[in-house]
Parts: sequence; structure tokens; C-alpha cells
Amino acid sequence: MTKPTKTDLQKYRTTLEKQLSSLRGDVGSMRDEALRASDQDASVDHLADQGTDNYDQGFMLGLIENEEETIKLIEEAIDRIDGRGDWEYGVCPLCQEEIENAKKPAKDGKKPKPAKATDIWIPKARLEYLPWARYCVRHQETEERNREIA
Ligand SMILES: [Zn+2]
Repeated sequence: MTKPTKTDLQKYRTTLEKQLSSLRGDVGSMRDEALRASDQDASVDHLADQGTDNYDQGFMLGLIENEEETIKLIEEAIDRIDGRGDWEYGVCPLCQEEIENAKKPAKDGKKPKPAKATDIWIPKARLEYLPWARYCVRHQETEERNREIA
């Protein structure tokens, strides 16, 4: 696995921007629909607070939430490509951390644990499929498990 080339980055950026604009369009029309389904002239937040048992409406609001989450991930990925992100695009920051930690001697004088990660770059196949991926597959799973517990 290697660093994405300039051409790769350009391609991911184009894909991300397309996805971003189509998601933004979706969220707008879904929100309209969810609101139309309600008799009240209420905001989405307000509807969610009411804990309505209207399945369609709840489902729709769930979709909006997921899409907004995805939009955030896409925006962050574009920032990383532009060099304005929290880390370099294409790097799994958790692999990077693992490798860094393995280099440092442990505080108690014991030998550091060898890193499972051997490489900080997210595989190209994963980025082609999911250009806004923040982590490699292994760390993505760890993150999701942590979130479920929390
Ligand atoms: Zn990783």
C-alpha cells in the first residue's frame, strides 16, 4: 500500500464532490417530505423530540441523520485532500498511532508491543469504494465496536 498519487487524489476529490452535492440535494428533499408528513409546521429537531410513532417519518429522519453524518465525513475527506484536515488523506491515523507507539519504549521499561499495523496507508481498493473512509477496515471495526459500547 502506498500513498495516493496526485491523479488518485484528483479522482477521489471529484467523486467526493459529486457525492456531496447529491447527498445535499437528498437531505433537502427528504426533509421537505418529512415535514410535509407532519400536520404541524415544525422543524426536524422538534419532530424528533416529539418521539412520533409514525414509522415513515421516523425512518425518514433517520435517513437524514445518516446522510448528514456522511456529508460531514465527505467534507472532512475533502479537507484532508486539500491539506486542511487533521491528518493526511489516505492515512489511517490509528495505524499511524500504533506504529508510533510501538517505536517508543514503554513507561514501565518493558519492551513496547509490536504494532499490528505495518503500513499507515489505507488500501487503494478501499478508497476507491469509500473515498471518505477515515480508517482502514480493521480500525473501522474497532471504532464501531467502541461506539456500540459507549
Ligand atoms: Zn488502521
